[in-house]
Amino acid sequence: MISIKNLYKTYDQGGRKVEAVKDVHIEIGKGEIFGVIGFSGAGKSTLIRCVNLLETPTSGSVKINGVEMTELTDPELRQARRKIGMIFQHFNLLTSSTVFDNVAAPLRLVGISKEQIKKRVDELLGLVGLADKGGFYPSQLSGGQKQRVAIARALANEPEILLCDEATSALDPQTTDSILELLLDINKRFQITIMLITHEMHVIKKICDRVAVMENGRVVEQGTVLDIFSNP
Ligand code: ADP
Ligand code: ADP
Repeated sequence: MISIKNLYKTYDQGGRKVEAVKDVHIEIGKGEIFGVIGFSGAGKSTLIRCVNLLETPTSGSVKINGVEMTELTDPELRQARRKIGMIFQHFNLLTSSTVFDNVAAPLRLVGISKEQIKKRVDELLGLVGLADKGGFYPSQLSGGQKQRVAIARALANEPEILLCDEATSALDPQTTDSILELLLDINKRFQITIMLITHEMHVIKKICDRVAVMENGRVVEQGTVLDIFSNP
């Protein structure tokens, strides 16, 4: 489903080269929940943003279902991204739009009827447990509720992949657990492949099948969560 090979991303920080991602190889199968863990600055965010080409890799290969993402034209990339949802630490909602309009936004880009949009948004808000919040603004919601809106928006076009960039890092432990439960539920229900990055071991242990540990841009360990984190 996701195949990352020989991936490098180098930033130029005012003349100084920073290798944020170095020689990363990761294969993620359909329906898997794959976690990437590491300290701040390890390169996790850069890596996950290379999967949907929010960052352009310096070199290497990113294939989604066999399609080389780095070689797509802009229109092809826009099309490919519809099958890749993404959620973020700070939710990235449109603050001056209602919950309904936030979730409807990606549907309005694909040209379906108003009635179909209404039906789909209602279905999505039901799925994330916010059926009664369509008319609210993000500022009227808790952090956990905002992330639920972001999840509904990410699922709008029925993606095959969900990328989660520190999706629970701004949430308290209880809310974190409820969001992780929701992600597990979505993974099971739709066989969505999930790639997530986090600095929290708890997140990995709770929902991931396999994990990669990143340090200074490199993957230093990779395997099942049991293999990597069981104490000998
Ligand atoms: P993490 O997500 O693990 O905290 P990042 O991928 O954000 O790590 O950062 C990895 C390295 O790349 C850091 O040294 C960071 O300063 C650098 N970096 C990240 N984004 C940029 C950017 N847009 N421009 C320059 N350097 C960057
Ligand atoms: P069916 O085969 O009966 O349509 P699905 O499980 O495929 O059953 O779909 C049930 C509902 O879930 C549909 O409304 C569909 O739009 C929605 N759905 C299916 N796949 C996804 C997905 N990947 N992300 C979000 N919603 C989805």
